[in-house]
Amino acid sequence: MIDLSLMKGIRVDPVRRTAWVEPGVTWNELDRETQAFGLATTGGTVSHTGVAGLTLGGGIGWLMAKHGLACDNLLSVDIVTATGELLKASETENSDLFWAIRGGGGNFGIVNHLDADDSQLRTRAAYGDNYERLVAIKNKYDPTNFFRLNNNIAPTGD
Ligand SMILES: Cc1cc2nc3c(=O)[nH]c(=O)nc-3n(C[C@H](O)[C@H](O)[C@H](O)COP(=O)(O)OP(=O)(O)OC[C@H]3O[C@@H](n4cnc5c(N)ncnc54)[C@H](O)[C@@H]3O)c2cc1C
Repeated sequence: MIDLSLMKGIRVDPVRRTAWVEPGVTWNELDRETQAFGLATTGGTVSHTGVAGLTLGGGIGWLMAKHGLACDNLLSVDIVTATGELLKASETENSDLFWAIRGGGGNFGIVNHLDADDSQLRTRAAYGDNYERLVAIKNKYDPTNFFRLNNNIAPTGD
C-alpha cells in the first residue's frame, strides 16, 4: 500500500486557468481553491473522492456534458514508473503513457502530481484547424472578450 493522502498541495493559476494538484487531494479541497477564482473542472458527484483516482479512471461528474470527462481536462502528470523512473507525461512528452493513464488508472505507475486545465491550449486543441479563424472573428465581434466562456476563444488567441 502506498499512502499519498498527506500530499495535499494545490496551486491554482487563474491566468492560465490551470490547477496543479498533488495526489492526496479530494474534490471538495480542489473545488474550494478553484471556486475562489470562479473556476471549476469536471469532478465526481461525491466530494470526498480523490482527484487522482477519479481522474485516472476517466471521471464522470457534474460538468461532464459541457467539459468532458475529468481525464479530458488533464494537461500533464509526473509519474513514477515500476522501474522507479520519474517521468512527465503529456500530449508532447511520453504521449503513449499519457494516453494510457487517462482511463487506464493506476496500472502504469504512481502519479505524484496532476496539472488540470481550462486553458487556451485545450481550447485550441478542441477547435483544431478552425481555431485561428475563430480567433479572428472573436476579435472582430467581441474584442473585449465580453462573452467569456469556460471554453473561451480569446480575442488575442492566447
Ligand atoms: C462514494 C463514491 C462516489 C463515487 N462517485 C464517482 C463519480 O461521481 N464519478 C466517477 O467517475 N467515479 C466515482 N467513484 C469512483 C471513483 O472514481 C473511484 O473509486 C476512484 O478510484 C477513487 O479514487 P481515490 O483517489 O478516491 O481512491 P483510492 O482508493 O486512493 O484510489 C483508487 C485506485 O486509483 C488508483 N490511484 C489513485 N491514486 C493514484 C495515483 N496517484 N497514481 C496512480 N494510481 C492511483 C490506484 O489504482 C488505486 O488503487 C466514486 C466512488 C465512491 C466510493
